Amino acid sequence: MISRIKGTQDVLNLTVFNNVIGQIKNHLALYSFIEIQTPLIESLDLFQRSLGQDTDVVSKEMFVIESRQQNDSSERICLRPEMTASMVRAFNENGIQQVPWKVFSYGPCFRYERPQKGRYRQFNQISMEIIGASSIGYDAQFITMLDRFFNHMLQEIDYTLEINFLGCSDDRIVFTDALRIFLNNSSGICSQCQERKERNIMRIFDCKNSVCKDMYLNAPIITDYLCDCCGGDWHQLQEYLKALSVNYIHRPTLVRGLDYYNKTVFEFASNSLGAQNAFCGGGRYNNLAKELGAKEDQPSIGAAIGVERFLLLLEACKNESDASLPASLFSLVMPMTIAQHTQALLIADMVRADGLQSEVLLEGSIKSMFRKADKLGATYVLIIGETEQQNKIVKIKNMKSGHEQEVPYDQIIHYLKQ
Ligand code: AMP
Repeated sequence: MISRIKGTQDVLNLTVFNNVIGQIKNHLALYSFIEIQTPLIESLDLFQRSLGQDTDVVSKEMFVIESRQQNDSSERICLRPEMTASMVRAFNENGIQQVPWKVFSYGPCFRYERPQKGRYRQFNQISMEIIGASSIGYDAQFITMLDRFFNHMLQEIDYTLEINFLGCSDDRIVFTDALRIFLNNSSGICSQCQERKERNIMRIFDCKNSVCKDMYLNAPIITDYLCDCCGGDWHQLQEYLKALSVNYIHRPTLVRGLDYYNKTVFEFASNSLGAQNAFCGGGRYNNLAKELGAKEDQPSIGAAIGVERFLLLLEACKNESDASLPASLFSLVMPMTIAQHTQALLIADMVRADGLQSEVLLEGSIKSMFRKADKLGATYVLIIGETEQQNKIVKIKNMKSGHEQEVPYDQIIHYLKQ
């Protein structure tokens, strides 16, 4: 038997997934985001230039597609590992003039990671971006927008919002110098951190080694190294969030894995998820448009929700039915014998034509049909036996109250809609 590729999933019922997508679409419409779509395949160069060569995603996790032309390295193609870079590319390439450009997209992303609960090689993101927005007020509004959504959807689940402020590139130079001095004076950091110190020093904060983690509690903190402008923005962002009653924790070691971030970074996480606890992450990326070839910088902010992890959370809070998930079956038509099958099909057809959900049971004994009605969660059962057929009526049973009523064919819709 041929199996699916490691780290991928067969989703055998998309109802909950589609529901989450529907809910976020409604929410984003309140903030006037529009939906766009970019390709699943992009040039490898796009991610090398945006996420950074030394990030885990680019150096270890890309799915690169072999070129049909041997030795043709001019167009190396890959499956997208995330969507922000694609959306900025689309902004540049399509010459979008109207800013802020508030857009979102959702769909599969691919990373060659070691699969575990909440971590897959193919997973879905909902990516939301505001391109061309410099005021720090946008950051506050964007984070609030996400927090309101999670609050509404995850009522019983504890989650935290962690924020950090990475400053501008000048701040980063001053800070990384201080960090390097700190590391040079500390002994016992792991070999991976030694390597990170040389290649991508901020990533030391992602180390899972407990010795390193303890040591970094005393490391310099980036928010102590901000220039006046960034310091002002950091202060203002916190003021806005307080005014909007958004609870957050400042985590000075939150750096996020991708190189394009500056200033604001944030992550929503929940302990209910286990090791892979972040279900949404994002931040500001003011220089990305230019790094991808635009003439000017476009100050921007964005985030991605990991859909699979969000679904795990919904499952954990048993909120699936409130998230109005698979509506239980509205009506079920039960012909007693084969002689009533045509009539049953006609009645179900009539009910659906009026926008009401209906199913027909064409097999099984009466007892098994009722068992099935219970399983399907039918609200109404429409029974047609020989007598009902002759009298042009159906017997409608309300499965919740147990009440039964004989209803003429031409009044079925009226009765069900009452
Ligand atoms: P990132 O693009 O790395 O900022 O990730 C944004 C969100 O996507 C994370 O917070 C996760 O919820 C989700 N995510 C990232 N990688 C994976 C993966 N391999 N499997 C499932 N979800 C993922």
